[in-house]
Amino acid sequence: MTEITDISRVKSAELYEKAKTYFPGGVNSPVRAFRSVYGTPLFIQKGDGSHIWDADGNEFVDFCGSWGPLILGHNHPAVREKVISVMQNGMSFGAPTALENELAELILSNNKFIEKIRFVSSGTEAVMSAIRLARGYTKRDKILKFEGCYHGHVDALLVKAGSGLVTFGETSSAGVPKSFADETIVIALNDKDALQKAFAEFKDQIAAVIIEPIPANNGLLLQEGGFLQFLREQCTANDTLLIFDEVISGFRVGFEGAAGVFGIQPDIITYGKIIGGGMPVGAYGASATIMSNVSPQGPVYQAGTLSGNPVAMGAGIAQLTELLKENFYQDLETKTTAFVSAIQQYVADKGYEFKIFQIGSIFWFAFTGQDHIRRADEIDANSMSHFKIFHRELLNRGIYLGPSGYEVGFVSAVHTADDMEKAKLAIFDSLDVVYNQ
Ligand SMILES: *Cc1c(COP(=O)(O)O)cnc(C)c1O
Repeated sequence: MTEITDISRVKSAELYEKAKTYFPGGVNSPVRAFRSVYGTPLFIQKGDGSHIWDADGNEFVDFCGSWGPLILGHNHPAVREKVISVMQNGMSFGAPTALENELAELILSNNKFIEKIRFVSSGTEAVMSAIRLARGYTKRDKILKFEGCYHGHVDALLVKAGSGLVTFGETSSAGVPKSFADETIVIALNDKDALQKAFAEFKDQIAAVIIEPIPANNGLLLQEGGFLQFLREQCTANDTLLIFDEVISGFRVGFEGAAGVFGIQPDIITYGKIIGGGMPVGAYGASATIMSNVSPQGPVYQAGTLSGNPVAMGAGIAQLTELLKENFYQDLETKTTAFVSAIQQYVADKGYEFKIFQIGSIFWFAFTGQDHIRRADEIDANSMSHFKIFHRELLNRGIYLGPSGYEVGFVSAVHTADDMEKAKLAIFDSLDVVYNQ
């Protein structure tokens, strides 16, 4: 094992000090603050392909990918050129443009799970709108969510499980009225009994069940085969809408997202991240019947000054066009699986209690001996001290992961064989440090 010194963070530290005078905690989104890993946050100066460079000139192979959107890597020529060409004609009109039709056509003609779509500007906004639509459509108020699923910072969903099996949620953020949390029921993932009890206890009151079909914001909590199907059946039997929050899984595990992978038809689907090619875009879609309830066609109000913004639409069109090319997802998965298998083999040989959970090009490093982790409460919070060391060691070896052990990593289409080899060896060395110090 080679001794390694800490990377320089002089410029990043200076920028962070300045940033703290402008922004709460020095950042514009909390996890960026490196609170659960070593050192000050790295300020990124440039990205190209699978690599990023920070303000101190350190270079990394990036597995964060802006938290998921960058499935084609940084600064992909097709996306960049499309954005530049759209911008020649101005950036926003607040009036319809042909680009909105083009992106909608691209999506709807390649996705059999939705018939109509509405573009918004973030994943949070998509979820917020989907919930309102479900309530407007069913004329019911309650929402059921799962502990460990993240749906953006929507009031009604910043709620965690209370005590007891089936409970109203408790707010997980200050500023969320208790009365909002009272409309949200929270149960554990992968628990059929809890689901049935909730439906029995709140009969005819639940407007929608919302789930990340591939829960990937609090570890990667892959559900047991059959759980999602059971959820679908229970929702149908109770006239409750099933919302798949595919902000992270949409266009990531396949062009049709998790709905396509599992062959399950949800009632409403939300998208974000990849759909905008790195620009702020979200969307929600459903059958034409359900979507006919959205304003101005129907009574559920939802609007946006920059919704369907042409520059963002251009980025989305360019990115999604690449995803439709032959074998795109197979190649990405093959590359990721080879990477994950090599690491699993290494830890098995060494006897480390470490797992990598993977689906498609999403992976999660878990410092655990368990074969499966399917629920939030199965994650051992103490294991995060291992991640903290692992994260520092990887940065020192030129590998960038999101700064939290609860976050997943992403492989992009432009990670090269060299990148994967470099990352693999860095992971071996970093695991040796974690387990031998
Ligand atoms: C990222 C994410 C959101 C929130 O999207 P933002 O664009 O950050 O508002 C919602 N749901 C899921 C599943 C996500 O991964």
